[in-house]
Amino acid sequence: MILIMFGAPGVGKGSQATILAQALQIPHISTGDIFRDNIAKGTESGKLAKAYMDKGLLVPDALTIGLIMDRIRNEDCRKGFIVDGFPRTLEQAEYLKKMLNEEKLAIDTVVNITLEEAKIIDRIVGRRICPSCNQVYHELYKRPHTHGLCNTCRTALVQRPDDVEATIVRRLGVYAAQTKSVLSYYRKKCTVVDIVSKDDITETSSQIFKALGLDAAF
Ligand code: AMP
Repeated sequence: MILIMFGAPGVGKGSQATILAQALQIPHISTGDIFRDNIAKGTESGKLAKAYMDKGLLVPDALTIGLIMDRIRNEDCRKGFIVDGFPRTLEQAEYLKKMLNEEKLAIDTVVNITLEEAKIIDRIVGRRICPSCNQVYHELYKRPHTHGLCNTCRTALVQRPDDVEATIVRRLGVYAAQTKSVLSYYRKKCTVVDIVSKDDITETSSQIFKALGLDAAF
């Protein structure tokens, strides 16, 4: 199964992709995580990406497409994968389509998650991530078992540098200007399911599993 998790920053794409990936036993591929891993390792790609990410801007298509296509060509993606945060431009969507066509693969469903803007800001400001295993938490909605520590690997949680209010407003503007049109593109080409994000993560997951015709695994 090949799924695209779509939506503005902060709607919960990453958390839902993690749950689906575990249930379906397929990789969860997040372009944001790929960039953050490159930044942590100090690679040239990471240095280039950071300059754009810190400003809330999109990383140029050439770099983004190169990194994600390499990831999708990995053997572990043969039985399907879930993409989160990609494509964010029409050029990226066209590249993905071309690559999948070459491999005789196709997107099954685009999961479009929506949430009102005031809630998005509230969600992102309270978001904390594990810099080691990329798990996502929230100060109110998804607290770790021990304050400030990742449940899985016990690493100290951090706030992403681009999760501050001024940058969030810029990212939402970028979403409206550059990314939202990708949804219209997919509505013409494949199945899109529309999901309204709830504060309770499990409630959102239930809606998504139902829309995809999957048995709930939680
Ligand atoms: P995310 O983790 O999905 O919120 O992405 C964090 C940041 O990484 C974004 O604000 C962009 O700067 C960059 N980024 C992630 N995915 C893409 C993409 N598909 N195209 C361009 N930039 C991206």
